[in-house]
Amino acid sequence: MPTTAADQLEKQQYRIVGGTGAVKLCHWMRQKLIYGRPCYKEEFYGVESHRCLQMTPSVNTCNCRCLFCWRFHGMIGLEGADSPEPEELLEGCIREQKLLVSGFKGDERCDPAMWEEARRPNQVAISLSGEPTLYPYLGDFIGLCKRKGLTTFLVTNGTLPGVIESLSPLPTQLYVTVAAPNREVFRKLCVPQSVGAWNRIEETLSLIASLDTRTVIRHTLVDGWNLGWEDEYAKLDLAADPMFIEPKGFVFVGDSRSRMTIDNMPSHSRVREFSERIADRLSMDILMEREDSRVALIGERGSQLKIV
Ligand code: SF4
Ligand code: SF4
Repeated sequence: MPTTAADQLEKQQYRIVGGTGAVKLCHWMRQKLIYGRPCYKEEFYGVESHRCLQMTPSVNTCNCRCLFCWRFHGMIGLEGADSPEPEELLEGCIREQKLLVSGFKGDERCDPAMWEEARRPNQVAISLSGEPTLYPYLGDFIGLCKRKGLTTFLVTNGTLPGVIESLSPLPTQLYVTVAAPNREVFRKLCVPQSVGAWNRIEETLSLIASLDTRTVIRHTLVDGWNLGWEDEYAKLDLAADPMFIEPKGFVFVGDSRSRMTIDNMPSHSRVREFSERIADRLSMDILMEREDSRVALIGERGSQLKIV
C-alpha cells in the first residue's frame, strides 16, 4: 500500500484531526513533565509548557518551502482532506492531546498533579506545521479558544496580510516570522510558491503597530544564509514596531537535516551578538535570553512580558 503524507505524519507522532488539523506533543511538554524544564516561552511570556496544545489547522500546507523548515516538505496538503469546523478542530486536538499525554501516567518522574493539568490545556500554540493563515476559519477558531478560556499564540509567515487584518478576535500573541533581511535572501531561503510574497510580508509588517494585541517579530537565523544584515533587519523592525523581537537560531532537526548542515546552526553567542546590534539600532534592550534555545528577547524595558 503506498504511504500517504498522513501515514508519514502519524509515524512522526502527529495525530491528524478532522482532515487538515493536527496535534503533536511538544518536546517541551515532556521536558516539563519529566524534568521540570519549561520552554523559553514559559520563561519569557508565562505560558505553561505542560498545558500547551501544539497544533495546526493546516498540516502539510504552506505557500513557502523554507530550507530551514523542520517539517516534511511535500507541503501540498493531505489527499482529499477538508478543513474541519473550529469546534471539531479544537475538541479533536484536545482529545488527541489527552491520549498522547496518557503515556506519562505512572511514570514516577512525572508529578501526578502536573499530569492532571497537562490533560487540561490552557494555551494553544497555532503553529506546528504548515501556514495557519491558510485555514479558512482561523478567526472563528481563535474566538472559540478565547471563549473556552484558552490563550492563543499564532505563528505566521506573514504572506497573507488580508487574513491577519481580518482576524477577529486577534490571538493573545501574534508572531510574524521575518527570516530574511530583503527580497533576494527571502527568495533563496524561503522559496515562496507565489509571486509577490515579499511585498505581502512588507504589507503585514505595516499592519503590526495597529493590531490591538501582543506582537512579536521572529528572526529565524541560519548561519551562512540570513545571519548579518542588521541594518536591513532593524529597518524592517522599526517600520513594523512590534512589542518584541525574537532573534532565534535555526535548529538542525527534522526534515531540515536534508537541506542544511549542522554548521548552519548559529551558536548562542552569534544570536546574542546579532540581538545586541538590533537592540542598539532600535534603542531597545535585550530583556531575556535562553542559551539552550539560542534565543533572545528584545523590547523596551518595563514591557509587560507575561501574558497574564
Ligand atoms: S509555547 Fe511552543 S515551545 Fe512552549 S510548550 Fe507550547 S508549543 Fe512548545
Ligand atoms: S513558512 Fe513555516 S511551515 Fe512554511 S515552509 Fe517556512 S518554516 Fe515551514
